[in-house]
Order: sequence, then C-alpha cells, then structure tokens
Amino acid sequence: MSSPVRIETAPHTAGAVASALRGIDGILTPGDAGYDQARLAWNLAADQHPAGIAAPEHLGDVLRIVRAAALVGARIAPQSTGHNAMPLAQGGLDDALLLRLHALTGVDIDVERRTARVVGGTLWRDVIAAAAPHGLTALHGSAGDVAVAGYVLGGGLSFYGRAHGLAAHSVRSFDIVTSFGELVHASPDSHAGLFWALRGGDGGNFGVVVAIELDLLPIADVHAGFLLWDISAAPVVLPAWRSWTEGLDRAVTTSLRMLRFPPLPELPPFLSGRSLVIIDGAVLAEDDRAAELLGPLRELQPELDTFARMPAIGLLDVHMDPPVPSAGVSDHLMLGALGDEALADLLAAAGPDAIGAPAIVELRQLGGALAEPEDAALSRLDGEYTLLAIDMVPVPAMIPGAFARVSAVAEAMRPWADGAPYLNFVETAGGAAGSFQIEAIERLHRVRALYDPMRRMCAAHPLPAMPSRPAPAV
Ligand SMILES: Cc1cc2nc3c(=O)[nH]c(=O)nc-3n(C[C@H](O)[C@H](O)[C@H](O)COP(=O)(O)OP(=O)(O)OC[C@H]3O[C@@H](n4cnc5c(N)ncnc54)[C@H](O)[C@@H]3O)c2cc1C
Repeated sequence: MSSPVRIETAPHTAGAVASALRGIDGILTPGDAGYDQARLAWNLAADQHPAGIAAPEHLGDVLRIVRAAALVGARIAPQSTGHNAMPLAQGGLDDALLLRLHALTGVDIDVERRTARVVGGTLWRDVIAAAAPHGLTALHGSAGDVAVAGYVLGGGLSFYGRAHGLAAHSVRSFDIVTSFGELVHASPDSHAGLFWALRGGDGGNFGVVVAIELDLLPIADVHAGFLLWDISAAPVVLPAWRSWTEGLDRAVTTSLRMLRFPPLPELPPFLSGRSLVIIDGAVLAEDDRAAELLGPLRELQPELDTFARMPAIGLLDVHMDPPVPSAGVSDHLMLGALGDEALADLLAAAGPDAIGAPAIVELRQLGGALAEPEDAALSRLDGEYTLLAIDMVPVPAMIPGAFARVSAVAEAMRPWADGAPYLNFVETAGGAAGSFQIEAIERLHRVRALYDPMRRMCAAHPLPAMPSRPAPAV
C-alpha cells in the first residue's frame, strides 16, 4: 500500500472531543439545534449520544470532516441508516463523531459489465430500482431501506443467497476513506488485504466506505411470495418446512417465521392482532418447476398463498419488513441441523402455546452457495439455519423485558447452535465474538494496523480481541 498521511493527535477525554468538534462546519454537537433529530437511528431503540454528528453530501465533505475529526482525536463511526445502531449505542459514542451517510447517495448501472456503482449510504431499494429497467437485480436482503454498505460489509444474506452466495462476495471494489482522511481504492488488484477485510469484516473497522462496485444478476422477474397460516398450525408447518428444506434445490431460499402482531390500524387485516406462521422467499426456477418445488408446503393448506412470478423488485416487499424506522431488540444464533427435539424446543419457546414469546422468531435456510468458501473475511456461512428473535419496544421502558424475551428464545435453542454468529444479525455490543476463525481475526488485525493504526474507527462490530496462541513447546 501507499503510506497514508499520518496525523498525530493527542488523546482527548470524551467531553473534550465534543468541545473540540464544536464550531467545525457541518458538525452538530450536543446542545445544537437539530442534534437530537440527527442522532436518531433507523432502530429507534438505539439511544446514541455521539460527541458530534455530520451528514456529508459529497466525497469532499467526507474527506474534510474525517481530517478535522483526526486533528481533534475523535473516533469516527460511519453509519448509513442505523439498522444496526444498537451495538454502537451500547458501546458508547461520547468520544466519537457519528458520520451519517444517508445524504451521500447515488447509483450508476453499467449494463455491459452488469455492475452497479453504489455511493456511500445508498439504500437497496434505489439500487434495485435503477437496475430493474435493464432486467438486472442484485443480492439484496429482505428490506429495501437497508443500506448496501452496512449489509455487504457484514456479509449480505439474500433470498437469492442459496443460489448465488453472499452479497459481500459479489463486490468488485470499494472506495474507502481511512481514518487519516486518505481515499483508497480496494479491489483484488489494489489494497487486496483491505478488500479481503471489507468483504464481511464490518467495514466500519477500517474506514468510511464511500462507494461500492458490485455484480448484478440477470434476473428480471422471480417466482416469490409467502404462505401464511394461523400460528396454531406451527406444530405441523415447522417440521414440514424443516423436512422440505433438507436436500432442497439451491434455487430456493426461504425463511419461516412465527409472528405475533398487535392490533394496529396501519396493518392489513390478515396481520393485525394475529399470531401467524409464515414461510416466504424466492424460487429461481420456471413457474412449473417452482410449483413442483412448493407443492409439499401447499399441501399444508395455507390460508394465504402469494407465491407467483413478479418483477424482481417485488422481492423487496415479500418479507413485509417494517417500512419505516422502528424500535426493536433482537438475539441471534447460527443453528445446525434441526432434529425433532430442536423443533420441540423452538415450539415451546415461540409456538402457539408459548407464554411471553417475542414478536418475531425467524429461521432462514442456509447452505447451497452460502456454504461455499470464498477468499474473504466472511468466507462462508457455516450453519444450516439462522435464528433471529426480535421484539418491538414502542417505549424505552420495554427494552429490558424485550431483551429477556429474545434471549430466552436464543437460550432455548443454544443446545442446537452450530456455526459462527452472522454479523448482520448480531445487534448487541460484543456479540461478534466467535464470528471469525483465529486466522481471520489475526489477518483483520494486521489490516487494521495498516489502515487505522490508532484505532480511531468505531464499528457496530469491533474486531474481536486478538486471540492468544498457545506457547510453542520447548
Ligand atoms: C428490517 C431489517 C431487515 C434486514 N434484513 C436483512 C437481510 O435480509 N439480510 C441480511 O444479511 N441482513 C439483514 N438485516 C441486517 C442488516 O443487514 C444489518 O443491520 C446491516 O448492518 C445494516 O446496514 P446499514 O448500513 O443499513 O446499517 P447501519 O446501522 O448504518 O450500519 C451498520 C454498521 O455497518 C458499518 N457501516 C455502515 N455503513 C458504512 C459505511 N458507509 N462505511 C463503513 N462502515 C459502514 C458500520 O460499522 C455500521 O455501524 C436486516 C435488518 C433489519 C433491521
């Protein structure tokens, strides 16, 4: 690598960082009008109190603000939407500048090369809308208002995933501003170690990602949708889905959720006030073959069945993620093969008769291309299913109870845990421990030592501590 500009700074105390940032053009500090609005993350339960906040609109602003932060010794926390803001808020930001990237956006589609160049904090919905007229799409996740940046930097689990792998592996290059304010282009041919680290190592540890070039998929329309039952059917639907997923064609990626909705006027009647089991996802096959694949699930007579061919952009709405910022907490585990005992434990924790179950308990099937190793910080997802338990917290006083509810589901399933936790589904500080193999942790630390030697970057998932190796035998 070229040697970055080194700016030596004296360490500052938390209050001193806010004072030092005060008055810098484009930075809000506590007490400024607009500070409280600007610190709101997509996850409204994340109560973040940074020393300063900036929302740059241009690359030039990012460079200027990062250099100004370096001069006063502020740590820098990049945030595109705040979908995963909880660990940052829990970790403390009182000596950090929160660099919110929602105003730094843009998409360029290269139809010939089948790539998209995505700027800063651009949302998936905007990328997919730009790609769709060309019959193209990408490895987006279930929600259109998640940013491409945080999603691919943490891995990227898509409903196309079992067929096409992790979104991080579809990235061709990153443009990143280091904590020194140097712009670096990372690709397999340039700053290759950094490129490796950014593909799944939580890029917030290495700099501010200002552009991502990624591969698009030649998919104009897709067979996708959901099947819905009352939750009383869960003891039948859950084992049937588990058996169906075993040996399933990698063209199919689905999730199964047990959901509990409060009665709310903004919800459609088939959701409002109901407890349900829903299977949803995508089948990358012709309609006849898709119908054949879905047949065993349809035999369970769902109350609603929306699986059909749709424009690829429609897949962004199939999972019915909240369309607006929401307040929630979650817990996550990677699970291995699920035997009958494991399913009984899940039903006891979240099925029809469970008392105090959280609002959402979700399994997503892994395997297929998601299990194939790549040379990237996140090489593969090595479990059979992800487990995610989510509870909503309309008021902060509900947070401790909600954490207890989601943790209870994870604890019930811990005997069946298998595989490293998946960063994008880890929403608590410290939850990334165990996400990487020892060799990957050592390499991530070596990359950080080159690009952020003073450790001023502040990510949702800080690098796990450097493992101590056993002393060599003498
Ligand atoms: C409703 C919902 C649906 C989801 N669906 C899926 C899904 O289908 N598949 C999946 O894999 N995940 C999914 N997720 C998880 C999601 O991918 C993570 O929360 C991800 O971190 C969100 O990225 P973000 O940039 O929008 O969020 P942010 O909270 O802004 O970012 C999270 C972290 O990523 C890093 N980061 C973000 N932007 C930058 C940047 N420009 N430069 C450097 N670092 C940056 C920072 O460390 C930051 O703290 C979902 C989450 C929610 C809440």
